[in-house]
Order: sequence, then structure tokens, then C-alpha cells
Amino acid sequence: MNESKSLFDKFAASAAVQKQLEASGLDPTHVVIEEILSATEGKIQGKTTILAGTNNYLGLTFNEQCIEAGRESLRTQGTGTTGSRMANGSFDGHVALERELAEFYGTKHCMIFSTGYTANLGILSALLEPGDAVLLDADAHASLYDGCRMSGADVYRFKHNDVEALEKRLRRLGARAHRCLIITEGMYSILGDCAPLAEMVELKEKYGAYLFVDEAHSLGVFGQTGRGVAEELGLDEKIDFIVGTFSKSLGATGGYCVSNHDELNLVRYASRPYIFTASPSPSVIATTRAALKQLKSHPELREQLWANANQLYTGLKALNLHLGPDISPVVAVRMQDNESALAGWKNLIEQGVYTNMIVPPASPDGSSFLRCSVSAAHTKEQIDKIIKAFSQISG
Ligand code: PMP
Repeated sequence: MNESKSLFDKFAASAAVQKQLEASGLDPTHVVIEEILSATEGKIQGKTTILAGTNNYLGLTFNEQCIEAGRESLRTQGTGTTGSRMANGSFDGHVALERELAEFYGTKHCMIFSTGYTANLGILSALLEPGDAVLLDADAHASLYDGCRMSGADVYRFKHNDVEALEKRLRRLGARAHRCLIITEGMYSILGDCAPLAEMVELKEKYGAYLFVDEAHSLGVFGQTGRGVAEELGLDEKIDFIVGTFSKSLGATGGYCVSNHDELNLVRYASRPYIFTASPSPSVIATTRAALKQLKSHPELREQLWANANQLYTGLKALNLHLGPDISPVVAVRMQDNESALAGWKNLIEQGVYTNMIVPPASPDGSSFLRCSVSAAHTKEQIDKIIKAFSQISG
């Protein structure tokens, strides 16, 4: 029985964290960007600051075509859908975007959701049920954990990106391996490392399992046409379910799942996070469709993104900072502990550089990080300034 006296006793730990963060002067969890100046700059505490942690990989949030598409949609379709597609009907943009994403991936089906978070909740909670087994990468995003939990399936974690650990789990499942779902991400969001998808596909085929890949951070970043890590490795036809988001490279909000399994269309009838929430606003759909067009027709954005990623990674490496294993648009600096992460984060802000402070329980392996994500829209000078700012802090 829970012995606590009040409903609110459980907030004691959060209150202590809040107090510590507030005492530092500027709380990294409550930053207000008073003015958004561009895809890469904003005003924070009255000062022009380089935004170095936005996930705005292609820098499309201020793209003229996207803004115009959103404006036109607001004028002709109004501000919102005011309901779920199942009860209130779809707008033609929802259907068109599903068709365009399916075409882009070369899959038979696509389902869109109001956010990337609900895409994971919506697909996993419908696809799995109590008695099913899931093998989940230990560093998977919270939405993947939450979707599994919502389904009631048995969840077995395997060590991050460790193919041997995954196979051990598959062997232990015995006959259940046959219908189990393996869940991984393409590029991981904190260290920018990628899943060993080729080995995972081999295992999935060997044991007759299914493979689900969250490419939230890989869309627009990897692959010859920007479809993600699966495309980069020539494997997208082998993946059962690819999930992604509109909130990073596409600069909007929303999520999707593509698949060749016909059952994806039946998920619509079984998915509470699809049925019981309002569908994406028409202007959001319009900007997303325009951004997808930009992503497809401007591969040079991806090239610029990688040039910027190289510049930042090699610049920070030269400072002997402790970085993730691979060069990628996500560059995270490992700090000694929470206190040095907070002090470093504040120091960077004072120098006009905004990064993401990532500490446990949100971080992999219990470490603390100052995470940067570069954008194709960052200039060489801005990246030089980010590197210079990091040279002033100690790790
Ligand atoms: N999956 C992963 C791997 C993510 O990193 C995120 C967002 N950080 C999501 C899903 C959720 O996406 P959204 O922000 O669109 O809800």
C-alpha cells in the first residue's frame, strides 16, 4: 500500500530539481525564446543567441514556400480540424500527405498522426497486445517505451545497438521469437549514433521476427533521397514499419508510419491515439507537404547539413571534448556530471549559444551531455562561434 500522506508527496524529488535549477539563475528547462529571428537565431534574455539545439536539420522553418503554403491553407481551410478523422472526417490534405509519404518511401501504406509521439503510441498500442513479445533497444525514445507499455505486451530491453545481446534475447524467446517485434531507431537523438540495421535485418529474417525503425532524426539527414538510415544502407524494403516525425527536418508537427503490411490500414480502427485526438491542422499539413517537396528537390540542403556537421564535430574534437562515436548532425559533449553540465550550459548561453542540456533520466547510460544539433541553415561563422564558445567551458 502507498503510505504517502498526500497526493503530492511524489513531487518532492521534482521540487528539489526545480529549486537547484532556479538557483542557477537561468533554468534550462524554462528558457523562453523571446523572438525567433531565423531558423538559427533567437533572442534569449534580450540577447541575440545562436540556436544550436533545434533539430531543424534542413532549416526549413522559415522557407518561403512552406510559409506561403501554410498561409494559403489558413486562408482557405481555417485554423483547425476541430476533431478526429474517424469521427469528423479527413481533410483532403491528410489523404494527400499520406499518399505522398507512401510514394516517397515506395510503400503501399502510410498513416499520419498528430505528433511523432502519438505515432509511436498509436502504432505500437494497436500492433501489440498482452502476450506479444517486444525487443526494445535500451536507449529508445520515451514514446517507444510508452507505446509498448500502453499495449500490455511483454517488453525485453537489449543493450543499446548490441546485436549479440539482441540475438541472445531472440534465442531465449524460443517459439515466441516468431511473432516478436524488434524496435530500434535509425539515428539516435542524443549521441547521433546509428543502429546496426543490416545485422538487425539478418536477425529478424533468421528468427522470423518483425522490425520497427523510428527514423525521427534520420529523415532528411541520411539516405540518397533523404529517407533515413534504412535507405542509406539499402534496406528500406526489409523494414516492416518505419516511423517518423514532421517536427524535425520538416519543421512542423506530426508523425507518420509507412509499411507494406496491409494491416497498417486496420490500425486506424484499433489505435486510440489516432481515434481519440484531433487530426493535424490543415496549415500544419500544408507546410509539411511543402517541406517534403523541398526535402526531395533540394539535396544540397543535406550536403550543407553534413558539411556543417563535419565542421562542428571536428572543431569540438580538436578541443579534446568527449563526443559521441560518429560524425553526425547531432553532436553531444559528455560532461563530468550534472553540475558541470549545468554550469557549462549557462556559460554557453552567456556567450550567446543555446544548446540542449540532457541529464538523467533523459540521457543514455546515466551521463550528462550538452547536445548540439546542427542545421543546414547554420553559417560557417555561426559554427565557428559555437566551437569558440565551447572552448571557454571545461568538460
Ligand atoms: N521518436 C524519437 C526518436 C524522437 O526523438 C522524438 C522527439 N524527440 C519523437 C519520436 C517524438 O516526436 P514528436 O516531437 O514529433 O512528438
